[in-house]
Amino acid sequence: IDLSIEQGEFELYYQPQVSVGNNEITGYEALLRWRQKDGSFISPAEFIPVAEDTGLILPIGEWVLRRACEEAKHWDKPLRLAVNLSPVQLGHTDLPRLVHQVLIDTGFPPARLELEITETAMITDMARSTFILRQLKALGVSIAMDDFGTGYSSLSTLRAFPFDKIKLDRAFMGELEDNTQSRAIIRAVLSLGESLSIPVLAEGVETVDQLNFLREQGCDEVQGYLLGRPNRRALPLSQESVEIAKAG
Ligand code: C2E
Ligand code: CA
Ligand code: CA
Repeated sequence: IDLSIEQGEFELYYQPQVSVGNNEITGYEALLRWRQKDGSFISPAEFIPVAEDTGLILPIGEWVLRRACEEAKHWDKPLRLAVNLSPVQLGHTDLPRLVHQVLIDTGFPPARLELEITETAMITDMARSTFILRQLKALGVSIAMDDFGTGYSSLSTLRAFPFDKIKLDRAFMGELEDNTQSRAIIRAVLSLGESLSIPVLAEGVETVDQLNFLREQGCDEVQGYLLGRPNRRALPLSQESVEIAKAG
């Protein structure tokens, strides 16, 4: 896998995150793509676990961060850039130093960078994880809790560290239409975010019904195929998506 970095087989795609209040793009999440010789892609869900087992996620993760900051510097608007961090990277002592170095090397403003971390990344050593997250935050970057609601300790993790954003896992979205429980859980998470003053972004929004429900319930931001798919470039909202977002 590491050879692939040198051979330019890795690319970053960018998916918009959209404010429910004014239907404008607030930022983009960088998503890693591994392009095969035949032009097809291997999903990160497949190769990231392998890269984590072999330790290759460290050079790959560094490449992602550096490349994303370099590319985002040239966007038309200075919007937020969200980058995923692997639990293995969080477990590595030098993460704050690496992030600091990349910010210096690329000249990317820390205030525009958001690091996404899953709660499962933190549970093995909560004290150590929160220590590292605090060091990261001290650099001026923000920290989002990714895949919220799928782990074992979402609530205690929220208590342990002042996250800047909660990303509600897309599993709840898929079941929203015909599952009363899912709707109740989404409401509960939104009210939790409100009580803790942490904005909530709902992932995996694919339908107008889902968007309308989230808007009614006071969700702050949305991300999903309805608003825009991950793309090689940080594209503005399509006319179609703008109209969808404004309706309802
Ligand atoms: P994630 O961080 O939860 O990223 C969101 C995933 O949901 C992405 O899959 C995205 O393409 C997909 N998605 C977005 N909108 C929708 C939608 O409306 N419906 C559905 N069904 N899916 C949607 P992707 O790009 O295949 O990435 C999968 C996972 O791989 C990511 O989940 C993340 O955990 C990991 N990953 C991706 N890039 C990186 C990276 O640079 N570093 C690390 N450590 N992990 C990464
Ligand atoms: Ca993510
Ligand atoms: Ca996620």
